[in-house]
Amino acid sequence: MTDRYAVFGHPIAHSKSPRIHAAFARQTGQDLSYEAILAPKDGFAASLAAFIAAGGRGANVTLPFKEEACRLADRLSPRAQLAGAVNTLSFDAAGIAGDNTDGAGLVADLTRNLKYPLAGQRILLLGAGGAARGVIGPLLEQRPAALVVANRTVARADALAALFGNGVTACGLDGIEGAFDLVINATAASLTGELPPLEPAIFAPGGLAYDMMYGRDTPFLVFARQHGAATADGLGMLVEQAAEAFFLWRGVRPDTAPVIAQLRAA
Ligand code: NAP
Repeated sequence: MTDRYAVFGHPIAHSKSPRIHAAFARQTGQDLSYEAILAPKDGFAASLAAFIAAGGRGANVTLPFKEEACRLADRLSPRAQLAGAVNTLSFDAAGIAGDNTDGAGLVADLTRNLKYPLAGQRILLLGAGGAARGVIGPLLEQRPAALVVANRTVARADALAALFGNGVTACGLDGIEGAFDLVINATAASLTGELPPLEPAIFAPGGLAYDMMYGRDTPFLVFARQHGAATADGLGMLVEQAAEAFFLWRGVRPDTAPVIAQLRAA
């Protein structure tokens, strides 16, 4: 019998996940289906329960349900616990297991696809929302020289620094000091075509600017390029977090390179 998977979100029509998982399934010969489910904003738990009752084996979760998925899970992986958010659910006799593959996806894209080793690098992470929180633990595991979290609302950056302790410092967007080898935009500013208020001096010569947003050349990437940084968008992260979820569900690691190339060409 074909195993059923899905991604839940609101909105969800834009999601590339069904296409990505269909490509992984073809590539690895796995018999599964993967659909996009639009859950009502106040009806995620009920939609999920209906999917499980209908035989669903696992699900991805996107905006705005990642925190709710974390609360609904019966057990959490350590990285999901640290992230306080879940993007991957697995269903079995023991209940609902929650994991978070966003950080692993970002690190895989940076280190494997973009060949950008993170050890010893000075990293600036812009934003302190769900995406930022999910990637801090995996970034720290790579042993950067520094990880600074800068956010518009400085209290949220402070809270993340307190949560992760040594190795993370926090500031407001107007309090960033020094230059960084890697600047990651994990704010939602790119979604509305906005550029966070940044100084050009944050980009170290030869550095990389990475926007988690994908699908368009964002004002952040344009600004970074104007000030000498190399740039990358979050499409690779999207495919890599999906590959990590696929591995959790099926025990098989798909080859991501052809899928990234296919999505870029489209
Ligand atoms: P979120 O939880 O809503 O957090 C939004 C963050 O952006 C907050 O830190 C907020 O600051 C900041 N922000 C919003 N508008 C801003 C502006 N105009 N200027 C400066 N800062 C602004 O969102 P999220 O889930 O973390 O998602 C953030 C981004 O990551 C989105 O673009 C999302 O699409 C992307 N993402 C990509 C992937 C991928 O696989 N590529 C995965 C996950 C997320 P305040 O705290 O001050 O409000």
